[in-house]
Amino acid sequence: MKSLSHEYLEDAIEDSRPYASKGTVNKSLPDFDGTKQDLLGISIITNDQTCYSGGDSKQYVPMQSTSKIISLMLALHDFGKDRVFQAVGMEPMGDFFNSISQLESYDTSKPFNPMINAGAIAVSALIKGHDNKNRFDRYLKFLRRITNNYDLDLDEKVYEAEIANGSRNRALAYFMHSTGSLVSDVEEALDLYFRINSVMMCCEDFAKVGTFLSRGGRAPDNDEKLIPPHHLRTVKAIMMTSGMYNSSGRYAVEVGFPCKSGVSGSIIGVVPGIMGIGIVGPAIDEKGNSTAGGALLRKISQDLELNMFGTG
Ligand code: GLU
Repeated sequence: MKSLSHEYLEDAIEDSRPYASKGTVNKSLPDFDGTKQDLLGISIITNDQTCYSGGDSKQYVPMQSTSKIISLMLALHDFGKDRVFQAVGMEPMGDFFNSISQLESYDTSKPFNPMINAGAIAVSALIKGHDNKNRFDRYLKFLRRITNNYDLDLDEKVYEAEIANGSRNRALAYFMHSTGSLVSDVEEALDLYFRINSVMMCCEDFAKVGTFLSRGGRAPDNDEKLIPPHHLRTVKAIMMTSGMYNSSGRYAVEVGFPCKSGVSGSIIGVVPGIMGIGIVGPAIDEKGNSTAGGALLRKISQDLELNMFGTG
């Protein structure tokens, strides 16, 4: 087994960076162009809160779908598991993350799980607040608290791009409204979803979210318990089964711990009881996962013996 150090991570980054050429940078994101193709960074924060980083770890990218685990934590906290899973299923799905057809074929047409777009729109509609601004403020306050980074904020250009490119998400939300599986104001639910996708973070911030999950939902500054363990268990299980889009089975086999990715090439990994991992590698595959980030995850899982299902 190799040991974790800054030097180890720099070597692992250089081994994995060539996989970036197999992916494509998502052009719908502002400032995301060919110049970002080869970027790759990682931060790992162990449960004693020691941070190790390598590569382009200071690169900020929009949270995109990694936001889905934050909204799930808040909705579970606000309404409990029974209510949340009335609105959304907990089963993995073989289709793409923004699939519409799955809504017509499943159960009472509720989305398969909280990690796909339809499911995340339904879940974010459950976040409590007296108006949308208050709901987003609560989201941001929680995110800042668990990352201990009070500079985190929405990027206006990304938010505008989410609105401009949001036709598919609008279709998902209005379809759910038509079947009664989204009962709240559709435009408000969408606006909150667009906002939470647009918050900018770097590897260390993503890793801190992972560490929040790996060390029992305690605030990094004073250890206050913010989310009870039974909710964290639910979030980690859903990440494991559905967090890496329709490659989640492959990641369970080849990486073996809960992860969630976003189309900005961001990944949050959780090794329960041990560490949180944050990765940024903007070149993504056709399913939506960072190609170099995925290679890096596989490598560190093997080298550091992190697979929950066994090593060797
Ligand atoms: N903003 C993207 C969307 O809603 C996020 C997708 C993702 O990261 O999976 O389609």
